[in-house]
Amino acid sequence: MDLFKPLDTQDAEKKDQVNPQGETERVKCLILGSGPAGYTAAIYAARANLNPVLYEGLQPGGQLTTTTEVENYPGYPDGITGPKMMEDFKKQAERFGTDCRWGLATSVDFSGDIHKVIIDEKKIIEAETVIIATGATAKYLGIESEKKYAGSGVSACATCDGFFYKGKDVAVVGGGDTAAEEALYLSGLCNKVYLIIRKDYMRASKVMQERVFKTPNIEVLFERNTKELRGEGVVEEAVLIKRKGQPDEAQEIIKIDGFFLAIGHTPNSDPFKNYLDTDSIGYIKTIPGTSKTNVPGVFASGDVQDPVYRQAVTAAGSGCQAAIDAERYLSEKNS
Ligand code: NDP
Repeated sequence: MDLFKPLDTQDAEKKDQVNPQGETERVKCLILGSGPAGYTAAIYAARANLNPVLYEGLQPGGQLTTTTEVENYPGYPDGITGPKMMEDFKKQAERFGTDCRWGLATSVDFSGDIHKVIIDEKKIIEAETVIIATGATAKYLGIESEKKYAGSGVSACATCDGFFYKGKDVAVVGGGDTAAEEALYLSGLCNKVYLIIRKDYMRASKVMQERVFKTPNIEVLFERNTKELRGEGVVEEAVLIKRKGQPDEAQEIIKIDGFFLAIGHTPNSDPFKNYLDTDSIGYIKTIPGTSKTNVPGVFASGDVQDPVYRQAVTAAGSGCQAAIDAERYLSEKNS
């Protein structure tokens, strides 16, 4: 999905087209994204009198709103659901005066001292500091039939869509913690869950693997690649290749109603790439130990800059760093 479009900042005519009403607003601190990183940055920035404006992006609350129980965030001894946790983060950010708004950053111009961010291809925000906390988005396999059945049997979010497959047979693709979590969630709703893993082992943590293997209605299919999905209007079966490239390679068909992707994520950094350094995957590079990007006054936090840890608690920590970095940047600039 194209979430963002690059802005040709050299072309004045195009600028007029994206901002026909000429609506421009100046802010001290603009935060993009509403996951643990964005809201934590907002809490700190608001308490530092930066009057932050936060745009929630395409998925308000971020990836945690697509997860079930969060058991590893300190302070919640009995666990908490992802959506509830994000609701609480938002309330806390608003309590200190954060202006939380619906809207998506569609392009940016970081060429000047004041940073311009276009919201929903229309409104221009001129920001003294920008904190990017846009997170990451689920990956797809890249097969044609995934697109064909999008919303008709294909999903990248078991928590969002699992309900529709109550009592049915489904498959989850992936061998990491996300796949294990999605399969476990679906096992409580569905008749049968196939877990399709391309290698002969799971990458998920031991505790998650144990839970998967102990669940009677999850069948783990190792060394399987998905070739295509078939069905009359909706997904009815998946064609798998067993031991691809081996002498005993074979084709298999599993009958399913739902096909859930859980194969990792892509950082949501597209609109910033013209200005910010990123790695080969697209994660925004920050100066180690800080949230500073290569553009002064622009900071990155959370999963959009973290290919390693990608946890709610590390995202929240880096959001705090970004707000502190932004506050210090402004104090130095104005001193
Ligand atoms: P991971 O990158 O850990 O795992 C992705 C999985 O998808 C791997 O098994 C990978 O296979 C497989 N995969 C990737 N591309 C393809 C493809 N084209 N075809 C088939 N399979 C593919 O991503 P996750 O989203 O699972 O986890 C990300 C991070 O978040 C991890 O650090 C994880 O620990 C953490 N996490 C923690 C949770 C928790 O603690 N509750 C919950 C969810 C995530 P291969 O192994 O062959 O590369």
